[in-house]
Amino acid sequence: MSEIILSIEDMEKTYVGGVHAVRGVSFEVKEGESLAIIGSSGSGKSTVLRCINRLIEPTHGIVRLKGERINTPAADVNDVRSRIGMVFQSFELFSHLRVIDNVSLGLIHVRGINKEDAIDQARSVLDRVDMLDRVDAYPGNLSGGQKQRVAIARALAMKPEVMLFDEPTSALDPELIGSVLETIQGLAEEGMTMVVVTHEIGFARDVADSVIYMDQGLIAEEGGSSIIDNPKTDRMRDFLSSIND
Ligand code: ADP
Ligand code: MG
Repeated sequence: MSEIILSIEDMEKTYVGGVHAVRGVSFEVKEGESLAIIGSSGSGKSTVLRCINRLIEPTHGIVRLKGERINTPAADVNDVRSRIGMVFQSFELFSHLRVIDNVSLGLIHVRGINKEDAIDQARSVLDRVDMLDRVDAYPGNLSGGQKQRVAIARALAMKPEVMLFDEPTSALDPELIGSVLETIQGLAEEGMTMVVVTHEIGFARDVADSVIYMDQGLIAEEGGSSIIDNPKTDRMRDFLSSIND
């Protein structure tokens, strides 16, 4: 049995203003597992990810990383964020910093690594995402796919225990999606533990070990990737056909 890396217990989130975005969500992710979360816009997927790495706090529920509760005031937020890598749809790179500096920044300022070693480590992760030839470029001169691979490298540089991806290919032109999906697939194959919110159903079917379908703040269906081809509910079936159009 593999170790449970991440566990979510009965998570709920009500936003100020009253939207009950997540209404009792529980799941576990084991070491080396890749979990895909799918579901319509507004079903609460991003809220779950944001509560996991404490960009926001859940209203109720427990988040554990390797058994240790991380959503408490006693757990250091910066420590949590360096153990949980997050990649957003919108890249979130620093536009005034070169690629190499975007990737080495956290190593220097959060991990306290000296600049020379940080640059070496940053080069090695940029090599993994096939961006070593662009270390001196500024983000503005990269394609969306290249920016996203740099954002992935920046998260990987911190040697996270789990990676969270929130629709990593949604902002990309169709011809750039493949290179980013291949990068994420490569990480999954190397055994990186990950949670990927995605509309790329092929990825959920072919790469993910398990799939969660969220609907209206709840897990409506979950199982192995075969659930993609055998939805039990009309709502999941309708959702899948809506994104295949
Ligand atoms: P998804 O990622 O599945 O599209 P979200 O988690 O972004 O869903 O949103 C779930 C629900 O919470 C939606 O109704 C959305 O409008 C609402 N919501 C998201 N962020 C906020 C916020 N900061 N304040 C208030 N409501 C929010
Ligand atoms: Mg979202």
